[in-house]
Amino acid sequence: MNTLTVLGGADIGGSCYLVELEGVRILFDCGVRLNTPYTEHPDIPSPETIDLIFLSHAHIDHIGAIAYTAAACRNARIFATPATCDFLRYQLSETIAEYIGADTDELRFSSRLLCQLVLNRIETAEFHERTEIHLRCPERGQEASVKFSFFPAGHIPGAAATYLRIGQHSLLYSGDFYLRPTPLTAPCSLPEGLRPDILLLCGTYANRLQTAESAPTIASIKKNFACMFRQNCRLLVRCGQLTKGLEMLALTDDLIREGHLPRIPVFIDEGLWQLALHYERTSGFRLPSYMNPLSARKEYTGREIVFLLQSTAAKNTEFASYAAVNTNFSLHADGAELISFVRNLRPRKVFVVHAAPRNAQSSPLADALLDDKICVTHTENERMYSL
Ligand SMILES: [Zn+2]
Ligand SMILES: [Zn+2]
Repeated sequence: MNTLTVLGGADIGGSCYLVELEGVRILFDCGVRLNTPYTEHPDIPSPETIDLIFLSHAHIDHIGAIAYTAAACRNARIFATPATCDFLRYQLSETIAEYIGADTDELRFSSRLLCQLVLNRIETAEFHERTEIHLRCPERGQEASVKFSFFPAGHIPGAAATYLRIGQHSLLYSGDFYLRPTPLTAPCSLPEGLRPDILLLCGTYANRLQTAESAPTIASIKKNFACMFRQNCRLLVRCGQLTKGLEMLALTDDLIREGHLPRIPVFIDEGLWQLALHYERTSGFRLPSYMNPLSARKEYTGREIVFLLQSTAAKNTEFASYAAVNTNFSLHADGAELISFVRNLRPRKVFVVHAAPRNAQSSPLADALLDDKICVTHTENERMYSL
């Protein structure tokens, strides 16, 4: 039987989807829920028989349980884009450090070692590259060929939508996707004419199709940032996800270059600084000269913008009085964009995951797609669906 089992992430957090197609067992993502104990992880049935794991992008709700999952699924091959691997290295160290309060050299060493062991298991595939994998499943008495490609999903650098074919079946897992450019990332772009039979849709706003109900956009965050600076000369940017921090650095630089903010010093927390240096080496991103690591701040007392990571913000009371910039912008397709995204792909079935809660049993997305004859299922955690 061909099935989808939602091990977590029907709602937002702990994304982990098990797809079984023609006897091949595939996991898409292995996230954790934010603010839950580090030891919590997806409950994967028979993990030793998982064949493939695809990681969509390096956000904690999609890769937070990768250390556990890689160990439990010992026979699986794991794939991600090169940029996701890069970001995963920094985000995983930061997350482990935050969870265990790694403030000794020994703990930092252990968390780095753990990250390296995980990264050694991951194989990379570039966007648009076609990869074919031949699987032998003697215990299941069969062989199978899986063809897959990653396509740019927007959202954050390296984020991928995964398209795969097994026999007559085709499936697209959108991962988190965003259809507009950001200061750091190009928009989602899928090949013309891509027609997956099954669409596993990260539909953050699927239950709130009106754009007005979506989170603030980058444009509104920029406006708010400039406005706050006019009232407070010292601003604090708190970053939960490292990639959000990098996006905010690029956004700050845009504001300064566009003349909405004066060219004042920007001081950056160590973990984010290291990621920014790395990203500078591997992409077109450039750290401007007025941005420096927090360690270079010394006795500075003038106007400034300080970037702090969540893991150090609690300990660092020095900046507690600074006005905090809102970083809560959405990098997910809004309601109208979700409808046109699905319409373009024309799948037979859509399974909605990663969605904010909905009211009662209504499905505005299913209603909107009724005339297109596309079957929409809103998934629930720990339930199995026939594909
Ligand atoms: Zn994400
Ligand atoms: Zn997500």
